[in-house]
Amino acid sequence: MKLDEYQERGEKYDSSKNVEKGMVGDAMVEKTLGIAGEAGEVADKLKKIIWWKDKKISEEDKWEIVKELGDVMWYVAAVARYLEVPLSEVCERNLEKLQSRMDRDRLFGDGDNR
Ligand SMILES: [Mg+2]
Repeated sequence: MKLDEYQERGEKYDSSKNVEKGMVGDAMVEKTLGIAGEAGEVADKLKKIIWWKDKKISEEDKWEIVKELGDVMWYVAAVARYLEVPLSEVCERNLEKLQSRMDRDRLFGDGDNR
């Protein structure tokens, strides 16, 4: 499946109505918090594998993590849609940023705009 197709198909599961373009509305806040919450679920699954399963990822663990990654993706796609940006562009720009950092030997370190 293509990223933009995913983003479009996922819209039907978004119950938020009256999203104001160019504004940070309740739906944008909800979806942004959703990204953080679902990322936390990924981290929690890893924590449990580290502490309770001797760091061994079972097949079941893997697919449970994948489920949570999908939840993260859905929220990311929604926020991008509110910004009227195709998900493919989000990914493309991310790769461009990473390549730029690699080219400048700045892949590691901190700062959003290094
Ligand atoms: Mg989840």
